[in-house]
Amino acid sequence: MSRAEVVVDLDALRHNVSLLVARAPGADAMAVVKADGYGHGAVRVARAALSAGVTWLGSCSLNEALVLRDAGITAPILSWLDTPDADMDAAVEAGIDVGVSSVEELDRLSGARVHLKVDTGLARNGCPPGRWADLVRAAAESDNEVYAVWSHLACADVPGHPSVDAQAQRFEHAYKTALDAGLTPRRHLANSAATLSRPDLHFDMVRLGIAMYGLNPLPTKEDLIPVMTFRASVAMVKRVAAGESVSYGQTWTAPRDTTLALVTAGYADGVPRLLSNRVDVLLGGVRRPVRGRVCMDQIVVDCGDDEVSPGDEVVLFGPGTRGEPTATEWADTIGTIDYEIVTGMYRPRVARRYV
Ligand code: PLP
Repeated sequence: MSRAEVVVDLDALRHNVSLLVARAPGADAMAVVKADGYGHGAVRVARAALSAGVTWLGSCSLNEALVLRDAGITAPILSWLDTPDADMDAAVEAGIDVGVSSVEELDRLSGARVHLKVDTGLARNGCPPGRWADLVRAAAESDNEVYAVWSHLACADVPGHPSVDAQAQRFEHAYKTALDAGLTPRRHLANSAATLSRPDLHFDMVRLGIAMYGLNPLPTKEDLIPVMTFRASVAMVKRVAAGESVSYGQTWTAPRDTTLALVTAGYADGVPRLLSNRVDVLLGGVRRPVRGRVCMDQIVVDCGDDEVSPGDEVVLFGPGTRGEPTATEWADTIGTIDYEIVTGMYRPRVARRYV
């Protein structure tokens, strides 16, 4: 077994996709596979999601989109955030739809299929409302095909947040402007949270990200299964006496004689150093605490008087069904979001295995 590996459960992914697709009947569904499929592997995730009912793929950059095409995936792909020097002819040649947020971006395209993005309140990419009419007019006059208008929500994960309705209103207005310019675009706005909680915002397509990977962006309960498990092994076992300290900075001192397991994953493998002394692992079917600071290559786990052996499996996070921590628990402990935990597993040092 590898020293540290991510196990990706494609059955769980297909289960989540089927559930989400069923929640948006009448709309197309896009699997967002940017950042190497949120750390799960874009190509494998894309194929599994397509087999479970999505018909579109979404990537951030053109390079990410081309990886999918190079793997032989022929489904429609939307790519939306590139630098001005990106080779947009390559996008057109590969049949990749392009998200366009400005007249300048549009001017770099010829013969492309485009999705005009309006900023309705996130203030990231997306055309500011004051320049939207110009963008729509320029698109109508260009030789590009306008497939859709779209936008992205800032607070869909907070049920009842007033910004969602405010963004929806601005979106409606932007859509009308496009119609007035003689365009007949489709519309898409919903991320995972809005797919689950705002059927009125599904429009022609929903864009599925985090929920597809089994992590629920909402406080409500959903039958989603976390797709990623992070595991490592025991490399060495040692007995220490009461009073001995553990790891850099000696931040933990054994209050009694105890057995320590050295586990083959550290912050270079994706275990945040902020989890030092603050997290458990599953070892031998039991949750056991990490003691002392997380190091670059290893962590130290307190096993008390239990028997553990080199080679034993250690689950750092997973779906939680065996009592192991989840990626969400890690995120809550260190004040971040589970998106960051799983995408942070996109690193060459950690093996990836599909089941
Ligand atoms: N649409 C766009 C434009 C995104 O950038 C993302 C991810 O950040 C998504 C959809 C999917 O969002 P989520 O992972 O919250 O479902």
